[in-house]
Amino acid sequence: MSTGRTPDDRSENIARSLVDPFNRTISYVRLSVTDKCNLRCFYCLPKHFKDFEQPSHWLTFDEIERVIAAFADLGVARVRITGGEPLVRKDLAGLAGRLYQLDGIQDLSLSTNAVLLARHAQALHHAGVSRINVSLDSLKPERFEQITGGSLEAVIAGLMAAKDCGMDPIKINMVAMKGINDDEFEDMVEFCIEHGFTLRFIETMPVGETGMNASRHYLDLQHVKQSLDRRFDLIPGVMPGGGPARYVQVKDSDLRIGFITPISQHFCETCNRVRLSVDGTLYLCLGQDHKYELRPLLRQGISEDGLKNAILDAIAIKPEKHDFRNHPGQVVRLMSMTGG
Ligand code: SAM
Repeated sequence: MSTGRTPDDRSENIARSLVDPFNRTISYVRLSVTDKCNLRCFYCLPKHFKDFEQPSHWLTFDEIERVIAAFADLGVARVRITGGEPLVRKDLAGLAGRLYQLDGIQDLSLSTNAVLLARHAQALHHAGVSRINVSLDSLKPERFEQITGGSLEAVIAGLMAAKDCGMDPIKINMVAMKGINDDEFEDMVEFCIEHGFTLRFIETMPVGETGMNASRHYLDLQHVKQSLDRRFDLIPGVMPGGGPARYVQVKDSDLRIGFITPISQHFCETCNRVRLSVDGTLYLCLGQDHKYELRPLLRQGISEDGLKNAILDAIAIKPEKHDFRNHPGQVVRLMSMTGG
């Protein structure tokens, strides 16, 4: 807000699309509906962490709908609901239905750990969520418990419920970690072929204290790809998506494998997203502190145009790139706070 005026004071015409200072069009919002989680993945959330956002600071469903409608008016067509664990927020399907109905929203998806998915898959699908990403770092129950503190059985039940009700694609997100799950990549490939899921490997990021500690398990995904290529025949260059994954296809199967490489090959030049946290803070980059707080404006009764001006002001401070390599540990907030 360099002009010294509030977003509501400005009367100039509001742009219809969001272009940041580096000429990237912002078309995608990751919407965190809670910073709480029912798992404790060791690289994400500290085991005894309790310092969650207070409920009076959570954006209400009405406030979320207002913000997403403003984004949609500014050209955002895709929204991914995330957290924390989004399914711990009450009546998530109700919120999803409201967002799906908004003019301009063409794609509504969900990132979940799937622990509660068996119970909610049908209602979510009905509400308009057809595409989901599910975190799954191990297929071994004991190891899964060590990594996450939770039950693999519940996750598999959630995945099968999602498959049964016709969600498609279902993408498995596996954080690849040296000494933790690096003996399971081929098993995960087989699992995804068997069930028709898409598989994405992710490099560990030094986000928050936990992410920083997990850096010792960092694996460059180029090596993972090379080793999978020895076992499976990988065809490069398929499925150019709107997201950061670079995909290959496993020959003679429907399986696509994506590699998300924020550390070894960052993809900031194509970044098309911002993150809205549960307390109404817009984070402009996962790996930087640039942010813009919308909640005070919403609660002061900002107009629709004022809200759109505020979003434009926020996009104007989106940084060029993260700096995980040179300044690991720079981002002290936890992933669950930003919205993963
Ligand atoms: N609870 C949901 C889930 O499990 O997908 C959404 C939130 S979770 C924070 C989103 C993703 O971030 C998960 O796939 C998780 O594995 C990943 N993640 C969390 N901390 C990470 C880190 N330090 N490095 C890489 N990925 C991380």
